[in-house]
Amino acid sequence: MKQPLRILIVEDEPAIAELICVNLRHNGFQPVWAEDGSAAQRELDAVLPDAILLDWMLPEHSGLALARKWRSSARTRPVPILMLTARGDEADKVAGLDAGADDYITKPFSTKELLARLRAVLRRRAPEQASDTVAIGELVLDAATHRVSWRGRSLKTGPTEFRLLHYLMTNPERVHSRSQLLDKVWGDHVFIEERTVDVHVKRLRESLGPAAGRMIETVRGAGYRLAAQTAASAAA
Ligand code: CA
Repeated sequence: MKQPLRILIVEDEPAIAELICVNLRHNGFQPVWAEDGSAAQRELDAVLPDAILLDWMLPEHSGLALARKWRSSARTRPVPILMLTARGDEADKVAGLDAGADDYITKPFSTKELLARLRAVLRRRAPEQASDTVAIGELVLDAATHRVSWRGRSLKTGPTEFRLLHYLMTNPERVHSRSQLLDKVWGDHVFIEERTVDVHVKRLRESLGPAAGRMIETVRGAGYRLAAQTAASAAA
């Protein structure tokens, strides 16, 4: 029998945590509840979950701070994070994505939406089938080992940025609209706004650094393109 996927729920309100746990269990997941950041950290140190549902408002460390911390650790970086937030503000959503969350869900949410978003982040986490290496200029991506390097120096990217870069590198020079990228990289994007693409492109550029980051060009009014020859390097 297939091992159920383990989902870590970081939520300080027992009623909400209980509701999520019951629903996840009903749908074949193995929920694990942590009521604060320290309990969640102990869980993560013991067993890595397949995904984390992270509440924004927590005692001590905020969900935002925890997302940032788990994204910066090599051990927890590959685990998708879905933020639970009572805040509907665009700025807060972007802050959550900037901190390293893969998606967010605004409270109150339906079980159906929670499951759909959770399945979507889990699908995106699934390793690329292709075990190939793509190289464009001095930027190299190894799909098998999930490594990215620039001029031989290895770079750190989050799971969504990796998938985005992989898609752009395997389809270089072409302009991709935000909705095309959502289709190809996110797959199941019913609940994802186009603005999300911009946030992940920004984060991807940051992980690539100034030189390689320039390869990802913004084409005004159209979308994004990965160019082997950047305007800057062509002029040099
Ligand atoms: Ca809370």
